[in-house]
Amino acid sequence: MPLHNTCKLKAKPSSPIESEALHSNGQTYVFPEVSRDSQAVYRTIHDQLVLDGNSQHNLATFCTTWIEPEVERIMDESADKNMIDKDEYPQTAAIEERCIHMLADLWNSPEAASTMGCSTTGSSEAAMLGGLALKWNWRKRRRAEGKSIDSPNLVMGPVQVCWHKFCRYFDVEIREVPMEGDRLLLTPEEVLKRCDENTIGVVVTLGVTFTLQFEPVREISMALDKLQAETGLDIPIHVDGASGAFLAPFLQPELIWDFRLPRVRSINASGHKFGLAPLGVGWALWREKHDLPEELIFDVNYLGGNMPTFALNFSRPGGEIICQYYNFLRLGKEGYREIQSECSAMGRELAVKIAALGPFEIVYDGVDGIPGLCWKLKDPASSPFTLYDVADRLRDRGWLVPAYSMPPNREDLVIQRILIRHGFTRKMAEELLHELNRTLAHLQHPAHRPDRPGTGAGSHNHSGR
Ligand SMILES: *Cc1c(COP(=O)(O)O)cnc(C)c1O
Repeated sequence: MPLHNTCKLKAKPSSPIESEALHSNGQTYVFPEVSRDSQAVYRTIHDQLVLDGNSQHNLATFCTTWIEPEVERIMDESADKNMIDKDEYPQTAAIEERCIHMLADLWNSPEAASTMGCSTTGSSEAAMLGGLALKWNWRKRRRAEGKSIDSPNLVMGPVQVCWHKFCRYFDVEIREVPMEGDRLLLTPEEVLKRCDENTIGVVVTLGVTFTLQFEPVREISMALDKLQAETGLDIPIHVDGASGAFLAPFLQPELIWDFRLPRVRSINASGHKFGLAPLGVGWALWREKHDLPEELIFDVNYLGGNMPTFALNFSRPGGEIICQYYNFLRLGKEGYREIQSECSAMGRELAVKIAALGPFEIVYDGVDGIPGLCWKLKDPASSPFTLYDVADRLRDRGWLVPAYSMPPNREDLVIQRILIRHGFTRKMAEELLHELNRTLAHLQHPAHRPDRPGTGAGSHNHSGR
């Protein structure tokens, strides 16, 4: 029954001034006593949201911000669909299943039509599931050999925070290879130095958060093959393809990073990044059915029917997954290739133009990684400004172009990064360059800014992202 039939609601106070009054009595953190008119509440919230940033000018996020009208419609039509309720929504469940096998096919699983996988809320949840499977499989092997299962470890390069979470939440020693000098990625040599009998796996990132570059999955796999030949240690790889798993198949089909490598046992990806689905969908897939330990799958019968579930969440919206399916059907490889190539080309062009501005040295030029670029100051010690100043100034103009320091051992290195996503146009690139030029003109002449003393190198202490 609609709310207005059951409650005595005030006549609609929908002028901006009255809707302002909903919050003007300092009650923002107090649970409301009374019901209110839907229009007035909508308007209040709508007006508050107007002050959020413009997502098209957010060059920091990896996530989809460009949404086709058909996708909006599907989201609208799916607001009531609960992904876990496969008995009530068998069509939605079938769509999820199709997506899993389409991805298994895209990532060259030898058992694409029958392998295991699941949708998740994003790559973070998918990474947890991937990590858990690695841990379970390792324990099974160790138990069979009558060996200790007390101290599992996971080897990785500069990873996204989800892997720190996995290791802490699930009690696995993290062996994170630090950056050294110009080496900002994982290398086969560094992996081998850290692997032992307690290594449950190696996480290789296809599209590193900090620099957007792809780590060398194939080379690391080959090094682990050699390790196995020499020592008998058989260490699996999980690829964190949050961005890259939706890029490499289209942009670099010749790059061998996926299930074509037998050592790659599982892959995670964010549907809501370069999968181009709206926020809230990720994927975890295993190479072959037996790579996902059965003990991790729960059978649930209390929604009617019997359904296996492997997830951290239970109830979860279904719309994003349906939209992911829409994307697969609508775009196909051709459409994804077209969109990602265009983004990638724009990243490379911007890299050339930003290098030409003078004070910046390009760290990643947009080639062979995620569409985008990043740069550092050529000479931070003698620069009259920091990259944080550049970021602040651009932010004042509505552009989000983050500056942040690298993880250990290159905390001294500050980088600024741009991601190019679907929806970023050449016109926007021009506007951004124009703004960057103005910013530099402003920052390079400190005499013109008496309002901001002491903004020279090192005076800022931002925490990055
Ligand atoms: C974004 C990202 C994640 C986390 O993914 P969510 O979908 O935001 O949960 C994990 N790893 C990498 C490499 C990422 O880029």
